Amino acid sequence: MAKIKIDGIDTTVAEGMTVLEAARNIGVRIPALCQHPKLTPFGGCRLCLVEIKGFPRPVTSCTTPVSDGMEIVTTSPTIERLRRTVLELILSDHPNDCMICEQAGACTLQELAYEYGLRENRFAGERRVYEKKDGNPFIERDLEKCILCGRCVKVCDEVQGVEAIDFGYRGFDSKIVTSFEDDLNCEFCGQCVSVCPTGALTGKQWAKHGRQMGVKETDSICSYCGTGCTITYHVKNNDIVRVTSKEDTLNEGWLCVKGRFGYKFVSSPDRLKHPLIKKDGEFREATWDEALDLIADRLKKIKREDGPDAIAGLSSARCTNEENYAFQKFIRAAVGTNNVDHCARL
Ligand code: SF4
Ligand code: SF4
Ligand code: SF4
Repeated sequence: MAKIKIDGIDTTVAEGMTVLEAARNIGVRIPALCQHPKLTPFGGCRLCLVEIKGFPRPVTSCTTPVSDGMEIVTTSPTIERLRRTVLELILSDHPNDCMICEQAGACTLQELAYEYGLRENRFAGERRVYEKKDGNPFIERDLEKCILCGRCVKVCDEVQGVEAIDFGYRGFDSKIVTSFEDDLNCEFCGQCVSVCPTGALTGKQWAKHGRQMGVKETDSICSYCGTGCTITYHVKNNDIVRVTSKEDTLNEGWLCVKGRFGYKFVSSPDRLKHPLIKKDGEFREATWDEALDLIADRLKKIKREDGPDAIAGLSSARCTNEENYAFQKFIRAAVGTNNVDHCARL
C-alpha cells in the first residue's frame, strides 16, 4: 500500500494504482479525454496533467503510478492554464459543429469547452478536412470531429479483440483508419461508439432522431440472446432513438451489434401483434384462444396417430429461464417426449 497526499488529503491506496485512479477514488475529479476506466492508459490527450512534489514538470496522472509519500496537486493556476491551452489546441482543429452535432449534450469535449469557457480560437491555422464518408451500414465516422484520443482503437483491440481500426499516418495527417482505408467492415458491436468522447463516432440510424435533451432513459434487458445484457433505451416521442449500456452493469457497458443497433423491430409495422391462422392458403388474424385451441388439437392428433415421439419442441434462448423450464415441462409431461431443445445462439 502507498500513503499519499492528494490536494492536501491523506489517503492510502494500492501500489500500482495510477494517480488519476487514486484521485477519483477519493472523489477528486481530474478531467480527461483519452482515459477510460476499462482501457489501458494512453496519456495522449494531456488533460489530466498534475503536479507532483519533487517532479520537475507536470505529468499525466493517467499514466503515472502512485508511490509511497507522493504529494499530488491536481489543480493550480499552472495546471489550469495548461489544461486550457490543451483544450484550445484540440478545438483549433475541430469543426465546432455543436449546433447540428448528434452528440451535443452528451459530448465530453463540449462539456470541457463549456467548463473552461472556450469560444475564441487563438490558434487559427490549417484544419483537417475529410470529404469521404464511410459507407458502412451502422457507424457514422466523422473524422473531422476525432480528437485522436485512441479509445476506439483500444476498445476494438482490448475488449472486442477485432483490431478493425488503428492510428494511420503521422503528425498533422494522423487519423483513425481501417485496413486500406476501406469502409469499416467489422463486427459492428459499436463498442467504439460507446467510448468515443466526441461526436466522431455515432450510430447512423440515430441521425435526426433527437439528441440527448428530452430523452427518457429506461434500463432494460436485451431481448436478443440468452446472455441477457443490460441495455438502456433512449426514448423520445415514444420512439427509440438509440441504445446504450451502462458501465456498472454485468456486461460492463459492452454490447453486440444486435443489442446496440438492432432495435428497429420494436416499432416495425411488420411486427406481429396478433396470432395468425392460415386457412385456404391465406393468413387471417385470430384470438389467442383460437390459436392455442388449434395448436392443442393438432398436437393431440399427432400424438394419437403417431405417438408422442413424433413431436419435438424447440424453445428459444430469448425466453427467460422460467419460460424455458415451463416449456420443457410441457413437452416432457404433457406431450410425453424428451424431444426438446433450444437454440443457444441466434
Ligand atoms: S463533437 Fe462535441 S464539441 Fe464537436 S461538434 Fe460535436 S458536440 Fe460539439
Ligand atoms: S464496431 Fe466494434 S469491431 Fe467495429 S471498429 Fe468499433 S469496436 Fe471494432
Ligand atoms: S473516433 Fe472518437 S474514440 Fe476514436 S480516436 Fe477519435 S475521438 Fe477518440
